[in-house]
Amino acid sequence: MYNQEEKSEKCNLCPRFCNVDRNRETGFCGVRYTVKAAAAMLHFGEEPPISGKNGSGAVFFSGCNMHCVFCQNYKISNLCFGKEITTERLSEIFLELQNRGAENINLVTATHYTGAVVEALEAVKHKLFIPVIFNCGGYERIETLKTLDGLVDIYLPDVKYFSDKLAVKYSKAVGYFDAAYAAVEEMVRQTGKPIIENGLMKKGVIIRHMILPGCYKDSIMLFNRLKGFSGKVLISVMRQYYPCGKAGEYPEINRKLTTFEYRKVLDECEKLGFEGFAQEKESACGEMTPIFNLEGI
Ligand code: SF4
Repeated sequence: MYNQEEKSEKCNLCPRFCNVDRNRETGFCGVRYTVKAAAAMLHFGEEPPISGKNGSGAVFFSGCNMHCVFCQNYKISNLCFGKEITTERLSEIFLELQNRGAENINLVTATHYTGAVVEALEAVKHKLFIPVIFNCGGYERIETLKTLDGLVDIYLPDVKYFSDKLAVKYSKAVGYFDAAYAAVEEMVRQTGKPIIENGLMKKGVIIRHMILPGCYKDSIMLFNRLKGFSGKVLISVMRQYYPCGKAGEYPEINRKLTTFEYRKVLDECEKLGFEGFAQEKESACGEMTPIFNLEGI
């Protein structure tokens, strides 16, 4: 149980180990313990069994423990736009999304608020008849994930980089792949294999990977290292990259992906026996990026 006493402890929720008291200051993620969110809405930009017909009930949290230079949600992740709310209000938001017909509750990058999310879910999980999704950047600690066991039905972790050089350059995330690999192991342990009923995901893990321009060889190595998860998870090979955030300061990623790069990675994933989702070329635009205007908060 997440309580005031724990809140006063130094924050080491993720592998950044900032060890700061987030009642008074902020660490790498840029936000305090009090939940801050930028929108709660029916979102149609996820994989088909997540968005469903009615949309995923997405809560977009402010701040992030990744701070990727190319982030497509830069306004909320890096600039921390949003409004502070209580955990009671967060519980209410979950129920409101369910009442609006959401197919699930989708916690979009909640790692740095895990304690508050646990508290909010514990209060209303018994009233939720739709799955709860933990959507995260993959840079997680097992100890933190364990607190979500039984409260989360579906995990949507990014696994962004295989090379530490890339992880450090674009996200300052030392040891990223090893942390993400261990996180996926824990997620699979909690949820088991993917279950999809009537076109909607009920349980399981979808590993998301957005290929970066010039980095398709890293993506191929990444999926080869993940091949032990084939049959235990679904994958989502994302083509939606377009230069966002500070990407313009990095000439090598200041362009969209080519069809050659995308095809190479998809072919490798098929060879490795993965099942999952691909994206159209047209996804590389801002069309599915939500407008963060505090809707539903
Ligand atoms: S959650 Fe934020 S403050 Fe806590 S360790 Fe991670 S980045 Fe640092």
